[in-house]
Amino acid sequence: MSNSKGGDHVAEEKQKVVIIGGGIAGMTTAFYLQKAVREHNLPIEVTLVEASHRLGGKMQTVVKDGFTIERGPDSFLARKTSMSRLAREVGMEHQLVHNSTGKSYVLVNEKLHPMPGGSIMGIPTEIAPFLTTGLFSVQGKLRAAADFILPKSEKDQDQSLGEFFRRRLGDEVVENLIEPLLSGIYAGDIDMLSLMSTFPQFYEVEQKYRSLILGMKKSTPAKPKTKESSGGKGNGVFLTFKTGLQSFAEAIEAKLEANSVLKGLRVDKISKQGTSYEIYLNNGETLYADCVVAATPHKITQSMFSEYHLFDPLKTMPSTSVATVALAFPKEAIQKDIDGTGFVVSRNSDYSITACTWTHKKWEHSTPEGKVLLRCYVGKAGDETIVDLSDDRIIKIVLDDLKKTMDITMEPDFGIVSRWKNSMPQYTVGHKQRIETIKAQLNLELPGVFLAGASYEGIGLPDCIDQGEAAVQQVLEFLKINKEAVRA
Ligand SMILES: Cc1cc2nc3c(=O)[nH]c(=O)nc-3n(C[C@H](O)[C@H](O)[C@H](O)COP(=O)(O)OP(=O)(O)OC[C@H]3O[C@@H](n4cnc5c(N)ncnc54)[C@H](O)[C@@H]3O)c2cc1C
Repeated sequence: MSNSKGGDHVAEEKQKVVIIGGGIAGMTTAFYLQKAVREHNLPIEVTLVEASHRLGGKMQTVVKDGFTIERGPDSFLARKTSMSRLAREVGMEHQLVHNSTGKSYVLVNEKLHPMPGGSIMGIPTEIAPFLTTGLFSVQGKLRAAADFILPKSEKDQDQSLGEFFRRRLGDEVVENLIEPLLSGIYAGDIDMLSLMSTFPQFYEVEQKYRSLILGMKKSTPAKPKTKESSGGKGNGVFLTFKTGLQSFAEAIEAKLEANSVLKGLRVDKISKQGTSYEIYLNNGETLYADCVVAATPHKITQSMFSEYHLFDPLKTMPSTSVATVALAFPKEAIQKDIDGTGFVVSRNSDYSITACTWTHKKWEHSTPEGKVLLRCYVGKAGDETIVDLSDDRIIKIVLDDLKKTMDITMEPDFGIVSRWKNSMPQYTVGHKQRIETIKAQLNLELPGVFLAGASYEGIGLPDCIDQGEAAVQQVLEFLKINKEAVRA
């Protein structure tokens, strides 16, 4: 094993960093750390350990019959620039493509309603589309208008997203618009999720402007009135790779130092021994490290460090299970097509799917000519059992749901079900504080151990990249301190 104790003399002089988990967070840490080592000629040896036989974690792409189908994440927010920057670093910038925009809908009480123009995450910023939408009753609209006069939240107090939005805009706007949009991102229960860990910017807007509607209107730059409202090719706010997100993972992997990646090896336990760490692998071997970056999902991290109670709060941190279902059809199978790129489903509709994207329209590169690709989600907080059904059952349920809104006359050419068990970490109220406490405690009890990944400070791909980059800085800072201490 490359970094076992008792290796050759040169390797022995190097400080050893072991990164656990080869998803985007762990890969980013390995990539930027190795870059720093090369550029500054640092005596540091980096090893990335991944339990499965591939890198990329949740980024998984199926390329089949001319389709490019994402099993997990399908894109990222372009304004979060760390992902495009990493794409440039690994030579993938030419594969980046923006989504095409078009109408999107919310399914409420079995009916598709166009998303009211000017709403940002469901918060109305234009009055006219909000007044005319059939999404809310007159009472619901009047209640939302109370936002103009209601006082702001007490300072710095965490609260659930549900509590915050219900207080400002009323239950109806929350149930019919905000909840389906937000739970699409977190697959969570809006009444449990933390405002401060998910959308602190809404809290800031409320603190600054008191009214959320006026504040969002003032703080959002006016959009040019172009194709966005009517739909347009490649002008959306998301980016992805034409060749699929897995090709991005492969491009990062190709840039990692030879022999620095151990695949198909699971870390079972990590133990502090003096000033370093012993990392026990499932093949019976042990790695030694001066620094450890745990870029694994939180429950796994907790179990690897189970003898240290500081990780105990991660045991009870929930994560929900979802599945994505991609269905490929010939174009003529869809008789009554809809003018748009997709819809989200409100909780008060009798549907199992929580969202559906007309992927062939949103991401044209994903689908060959003459075909249609629909990608649906099932599973959400409190309603996850569907994820355990067989592929055929899930596909049937999804098709039955789709037929309520679209006229589908043929069976799909094929369907791909991807299960993501306990994969969506839930940032419940108080999450930020709990993670800060764990990190402060880590510093004291297990110096040189750092955390990165979706369980902590943002679940989006760019958030995980940011955390990987932050871990690199923490490691470099720690090893510098460590070295000085050794010299003294
Ligand atoms: C269905 C779905 C759709 C999503 N859509 C989007 C989207 O469109 N845009 C977006 O920005 N985000 C999206 N996300 C969120 C985003 O994909 C994830 O938050 C992100 O990929 C997590 O990266 P990570 O590196 O933290 O963890 P992971 O990708 O989970 O990587 C962790 C790695 O650790 C490995 N591992 C586990 N245990 C061990 C062990 N004991 N030893 C060694 N290795 C171990 C695993 O095999 C895995 O490779 C989506 C997530 C899901 C599930």
